[in-house]
Amino acid sequence: MGTRVRTRFAPSPTGAQHVGNARTYLANWLFARSGGGEILLRIEDIDSPRVKPGAMEQALDDLRWLGLDWDCEPVVQTARLPLYEAALDELKRRDLVYPCTCSRSDIAQAASAPHAEHEGPVYPRTCAGRTARDAPVEPFAWRFRVSDSPVFRDLVRGDVAIDLGQVGGDFVVWKNTGTPAYQLAVVVDDAAMGITHVVRGDDLLPSTPRQLLIYRELNAAAPAFAHLPLVVGEDGRRLAKRHGDTRLSALRAAGVCPESLVGLLAWSCGWIDRIEPVAARDLLPKFDWQTIPHEPFTLRREHLAAIGF
Ligand code: GLU
Ligand code: ZN
Repeated sequence: MGTRVRTRFAPSPTGAQHVGNARTYLANWLFARSGGGEILLRIEDIDSPRVKPGAMEQALDDLRWLGLDWDCEPVVQTARLPLYEAALDELKRRDLVYPCTCSRSDIAQAASAPHAEHEGPVYPRTCAGRTARDAPVEPFAWRFRVSDSPVFRDLVRGDVAIDLGQVGGDFVVWKNTGTPAYQLAVVVDDAAMGITHVVRGDDLLPSTPRQLLIYRELNAAAPAFAHLPLVVGEDGRRLAKRHGDTRLSALRAAGVCPESLVGLLAWSCGWIDRIEPVAARDLLPKFDWQTIPHEPFTLRREHLAAIGF
């Protein structure tokens, strides 16, 4: 294996793609293409109850509209279940996972400490006394035994140390619905696809030490990581419906030029000095991880007005 960069777009077809997704996709594409690297596309559709019909086609349209291309046919997670099962079997064989029958409310009641938004409480290890050979009669999830919290060097953030003992604790790798959880599927796929760099939003920062544990136990080489700060609304909260419709499909429908949005995002990343239309490919010589601010990017009314939305 050479050292050529290979990244991936990994949209979840669970809803529409927003301005924040576009910012991450743009950085991902510029990083890969400016170094002559490859970029693959993976549809993360294993979270089946939340998958929305048509969302996959829309994500592809959004990427094309932004002027971002990819290599090879899309990889679709629901077609890869045997790979995830094999990885789970390996973790079971080595007793690195145990069956957990706790419901969400069991965990909320047993866990007392306050917890980070989106992360849920620290799992109180109620079921940690079980072995991988135990098979409870009620539905159960498989939890990974967290032994330590790998630190890593992020291309945007620098050194990142997150103590999993304080954030989430033992985590689910296989859901009680009988389907793989994100943490396991993403590692199996990134390893199998030969991904060298994972570029994604920094809401997933706490997932990285978990995934590094799985890479280690599956004896797979871990990629490098770049986590981009999120795009937030004027109230400082993650972009959502309450901030108005900032779906890429809505911008498209309103006749916003993709170059206008790309220019706004490039300005927010410090690659150009003022908000002006620019095509993604014209940014290739300007791409730089170092100029990206570490704080979230606040999307203001005047920004949207500046791009004609
Ligand atoms: N599918 C995830 C998302 O859309 C991205 C996961 C990842 O990049 O690891 O948020
Ligand atoms: Zn449990």
